[in-house]
Amino acid sequence: MAGTSFVDITQENKAKTIEFSSQAPQWRMCCYGLNLEGVCKYASCKAFNHWVIIMKGMCTYDLVYDEHENVCPICCQYLETNKCAFSNCNYSYVGVKLEKGQPLKKIMSEKEKTVGNHYLLFDPHEAGVCNWGSLKICTKPKNLEAEMGKLCWDLPERERMRSRWSVNMYFMMNARRQFRN
Ligand SMILES: [Zn+2]
Repeated sequence: MAGTSFVDITQENKAKTIEFSSQAPQWRMCCYGLNLEGVCKYASCKAFNHWVIIMKGMCTYDLVYDEHENVCPICCQYLETNKCAFSNCNYSYVGVKLEKGQPLKKIMSEKEKTVGNHYLLFDPHEAGVCNWGSLKICTKPKNLEAEMGKLCWDLPERERMRSRWSVNMYFMMNARRQFRN
């Protein structure tokens, strides 16, 4: 049966909330948005046999098409992932689950889900694994407009212009990233 094995992202109640730590190895650094996890299998890498975090950020991640881009943050060698995590973002997903002898099952998040200032981990040990025919995960900054609105309101005109410029830059950079994906 074709498909890609990856954690069951629909099992939200089985996701683990992990608080940030000020002491963690370099390969356990995460970003706002989407993060993936896999084990580095290169013996010469500092992170050999450790779960490393692949920072994806605010993006649309395609489990099938973007899979080959997943590399260890230390040695930059390809690795397989089956865990994902979110932090400080809104996320949504759409995909197709494959089960032997069953019709294709379309999966879609009902609405955008919000993740606060922690690391929300979907681990196959708790959430289970699915065989995905396709899966797209989309992450966006949460309350960006509200936060920027507040910022613009508090600042004098010159600063306001500058912050507007940086918001535009932010959207441009994010758009470029999405396009590349
Ligand atoms: Zn490595």
